[in-house]
Amino acid sequence: MTIRNEGDQSPTEMAKALRTLPKAELHLHIEGTLEPELALELADRNGVRLPWTSLKELRRQYDFSNLQSFLDLYYRLMSTLRTARDFRDLMLAYLSRAAADGVRRAEIFFDPQVHVNNGLDLDMVMDGLLEGLRLGRERLGIGGGLILCIVRDMPVSSAQAILDAVSHRKDDILGIGLDSAEVGYPPSLFADVFSRSADMGLHRVAHAGEEGPADYVTQALDLLHVERVDHGVHAADDPALVRRLASEDVPLTMCPLSNRRLQVVHDLKDLPLLSLLDAGVKVTVNSDDPAYFGGYIGDNYQALADLGMGLDRLALIARNSLEATFLDEDAKAGLLREFDDWSRRFIPGESFGGAGSAESGKEESGKEESDGGSSPNGADRKGTARD
Ligand SMILES: [Zn+2]
Repeated sequence: MTIRNEGDQSPTEMAKALRTLPKAELHLHIEGTLEPELALELADRNGVRLPWTSLKELRRQYDFSNLQSFLDLYYRLMSTLRTARDFRDLMLAYLSRAAADGVRRAEIFFDPQVHVNNGLDLDMVMDGLLEGLRLGRERLGIGGGLILCIVRDMPVSSAQAILDAVSHRKDDILGIGLDSAEVGYPPSLFADVFSRSADMGLHRVAHAGEEGPADYVTQALDLLHVERVDHGVHAADDPALVRRLASEDVPLTMCPLSNRRLQVVHDLKDLPLLSLLDAGVKVTVNSDDPAYFGGYIGDNYQALADLGMGLDRLALIARNSLEATFLDEDAKAGLLREFDDWSRRFIPGESFGGAGSAESGKEESGKEESDGGSSPNGADRKGTARD
């Protein structure tokens, strides 16, 4: 992408402005926040044997060279998560990092099929994550919710079984998503799953157009009726689709450092983020699996600043993220007021009327973290790749 260099901030001023810029994180896999320090602590706590005993040795494994080596490490470390306390600690560790990056709201993916396949009770997993969210709200002032992600390269029947398993506590879930290996698993396979989720009152998002073609984005819109598209990089290949995303005000949750690490683009400057933004698409910036992909959300904003993107555009992206949350309109307006305060301080005179607004938001959801129940589920499913 070509980025205007309009920055008149010094690097220090820019870093401070970005750190305090109120933003939402809308594309974050909680399992992808497992840092090596915590993984070793959990392995020790739970008696899980890992092939690496020192932090230095384990940290070297994060320097993976391709998707498969990432997935191998990812699943190996996921097996250290065994108890509600582990999931609570994972969530709190993420929220602490996010708070330092100015995140005010986080709508967070988790992969229930994989945890069930690891022999864990889904209610226990959710209880731990929700407790982490509750403590994060209390201690850090960050609001959040859980998005249940369907692993698309597992059987569709296992996705339906997960919906069965959470049907007694659907108020604990904000929405449904679709992740993992994209090519060969088009959104059309999941039309029934998403239709049922809509009937359950869940918001709908899906990974589309990361490695898959623009047509997968169209399918996600037409067949899954998603309210946000996760990644959406290849939407840029279809000018009519870009116009549609802009006119229908569909947010994209883009993840620059992830795309570079997994070679969706060779170089960040090749990512069509700016052209999509300038075409009026509601682009947001997020971290995906930050422990593995070289940075949290603040690092993703900083990477764009380092390419020369001006603070006005970065601020617009942050404002987009607040507008793209599934918060009710009052809560959203509160966050937008925080943004306005920031804007008056850091870029006085800049106005952000932009495409979409708090007033034109979609249906609201008050689903937030709660304690939930604890009934077991006996589903038996098998996991494969993700992201
Ligand atoms: Zn993702």
